[in-house]
Formats: sequence, structure tokens, C-alpha cells
Amino acid sequence: MENIKIMGAGLSGLTAAINLTKAGYNVDVFEKRDDCGKRFQGDLEGLENWSSKMDILHEIKSMNIKINFNCSPFKKICLTDGKEILENTCDKPVFYLVKRGTNEDSLDQGLKKQALESGVNIHFNSKKNSENMDIISVGSAENKPTGSVKGIRFESESDDIAVSLLNKEASNRAYSYLLITNGYGCMCSVNLYLMGNAVNRYFKKTYEIMTELFDINIKNVKNIGGVGCCLLTPKYVKKGKIYTGEAAGFQDLLWGFGMRYAINSGYLAAKSIIENKNYKKLIKQRLSDRLKTSVSNRYIADRFKDRYSSFLLEWAKENKRWRDILYRGYNPSLYTRAIYPFAKLNLALKYKNFL
Ligand SMILES: Cc1cc2nc3c(=O)[nH]c(=O)nc-3n(C[C@H](O)[C@H](O)[C@H](O)COP(=O)(O)OP(=O)(O)OC[C@H]3O[C@@H](n4cnc5c(N)ncnc54)[C@H](O)[C@@H]3O)c2cc1C
Repeated sequence: MENIKIMGAGLSGLTAAINLTKAGYNVDVFEKRDDCGKRFQGDLEGLENWSSKMDILHEIKSMNIKINFNCSPFKKICLTDGKEILENTCDKPVFYLVKRGTNEDSLDQGLKKQALESGVNIHFNSKKNSENMDIISVGSAENKPTGSVKGIRFESESDDIAVSLLNKEASNRAYSYLLITNGYGCMCSVNLYLMGNAVNRYFKKTYEIMTELFDINIKNVKNIGGVGCCLLTPKYVKKGKIYTGEAAGFQDLLWGFGMRYAINSGYLAAKSIIENKNYKKLIKQRLSDRLKTSVSNRYIADRFKDRYSSFLLEWAKENKRWRDILYRGYNPSLYTRAIYPFAKLNLALKYKNFL
């Protein structure tokens, strides 16, 4: 039986491990923390369901992963600039909210359970040298951070809600969000090219605006946050090791949605080993168009700064089918394809400390 060693028991590492074990490999996963999901603090994350025609839950199942974690579909979403509130109800879920962390119903614990059931050996508190590894899935630990998220999670008696706030005082170049589902909530500010205490004032403003606009009840508050990494030139394979998820730099550069990329890249890493196929080619076929579009989108967003948010709000006002707009925005057009080389070069020069 062939042995495979994976570094990092997160989304991409465990997806790779589950698929490899099911194909008959003997898989060891080395995780530096003492449990899966410890990188996170019980925050809610959106498993986006707009960048592909295929429903994300269907896509996940097609990659041999069961939906044994809690995930709440959201069809109704709100968009605001801090003054006007726009609402839209889509015909299909725009995203599914999942919990990240060590809660029993979290995505991380769901994957851990499936991995253990299929015979993966997970070694916790184990920080090994990457030299002996076949797959590197260490998330944001591998690269320089591109941005950071700061916020709170809480309990609430308020109704379920999903709000996205576009306001330059509440977020640096990205957005803020308020999410409540089944009595559990999360409010955060996402900031690009900004780390540490510098993001505190953005979250403070996020909190001010959200609590002024929405009559929500917040109790048992815990601080949450973290960093995210994107690379303009992903890593794929280096020194014979396959890189997956954020360690490879696979993340939506516009708004930081990385879970779909992580699960897909873990699956493709396993497929490349099982079927002896070229990993980079598999990624290019399935994910590269969307990754490149996110680079073009980020360039446009940075170029137009506050006007970009105003465009989006105007667009949202004029169009009733928000999920379709997101689908179009996240997939290549003639325009985003044409500007991609320039966008990549421009971002590489301007933000070389972050990308
Ligand atoms: C606060 C926050 C909010 C986010 N919100 C969203 C969202 O709403 N939607 C979305 O799609 N994405 C979101 N993301 C991004 C998403 O969480 C990541 O893209 C995704 O988790 C990446 O998966 P991964 O497999 O690459 O890494 P992870 O799932 O992070 O797993 C990496 C694992 O490697 C371990 N590790 C690190 N270093 C070592 C080492 N040296 N040795 C052994 N193990 C190691 C870590 O402990 C961790 O368990 C968010 C990120 C943050 C920080």
C-alpha cells in the first residue's frame, strides 16, 4: 500500500486525505494544533454558491465528501452602504452558512469525522518538517497575509439575516458582514492590505453602522478574526510537493472566499496522485478561469476605490437577479480576460508586500 503524508488537517488537506484513503492509500495527516478547526473560533463562513452553475453542496458530494455538518442555505440577502438597505431574494441559495472551529456541527469537525471513518491517521500537535511531506495544506501559515478579518461572534434571539456592508470607513477595500442563523451570529470587517490593530477602527465602525441599521440582539460576545492569503502566481507543485488551498494561494482575491477553492484543490491533489495526472493542469481546467477573474476584479475594485462600491449598489438596485450578477462577475468575460495580464502586473508591483 502506498503511503502519503499531508501537512495540515484543514479543508483541503482533509479532502485530499479522504479521497486518497478511499482509493486505497495509507494516509497520515500532520496537524500542528490539537484539533481540527482550531485556526478558527466558531465563526460563520459563507460557502459561496454563485461562482458555478452547480450547487456547491452537489459539487462537494461529487468530490466524495458527505454533508455531515450544519449548513444553512440563504436565499435572501441585504446589501447596504450604511444608509440605504437593498434586499433581494434569489431563486436558489446565494450561499450556505457553515461554522468553522471545533463545534461538533462545524465543517472542520464534519471533515475530521469523515477522515477518521475512512481510515485517515491524523496526528495532532504534530509540526513536522515539510521536507518529508507529499501534500502541503497548511492554509495561511505558508504565505504572507493579503488581508485580515476582525469581528465578533455572538448568540442572538434575532431572526436569521445576512447583510453585506460596503462602506469605506467600515472596511479597507473590501466589505463587512452581519450573519445570524439559528440563534448564532457573526459580525466582521474584512480588510485588504491591512493587518493587526489597524483594522480595529474599521470593525468599530462596522459595529456602529450594523447596530444602528438593524435591530439585532447580541449576547455572549467572543472576539474572532484571522488572516487570509492569495497569490497572484499560485504554487501548484514545488520541490515535488503538491500545494493546496490557501497554502497554494488559491483564494478569491476580490472578497476572500476561499473554501470552495480549498475543497476543490484538495480533491484535485488526490485525483492527480490516484490517476497519475498533472496537478497544475487539473487546477487550470477547473479553477484557473475564476482565479484569474478574481485578479481582474481586484484590480478594478482597487482602481475605482469607493466608486466601485457605488457601482455595485447601483447595479443591485437596477437588477433583480443578484445571484446571476455574481455568477457573471465571478466568471471570465472578454473584458476581464483582456485586462488580466495588466491587472496582475499592476497588483504585483503595487502590493508586492501582500501578494
Ligand atoms: C475570519 C475568516 C473568515 C473567512 N470567511 C470566509 C467565507 O465566508 N467564505 C469563504 O469561502 N472563505 C472564507 N475564509 C477563507 C477560508 O477560511 C480559507 O480559504 C480556507 O479555510 C482555506 O482552507 P485550507 O485547507 O487552505 O486551510 P485551513 O482550512 O485553514 O487548514 C490549514 C490547517 O493547517 C494547519 N497548519 C498550519 N501550519 C501547520 C504546520 N506547520 N504543520 C501542520 N499543520 C499546520 C492549521 O492549523 C489548519 O488546521 C475566511 C477566512 C478567515 C480567516
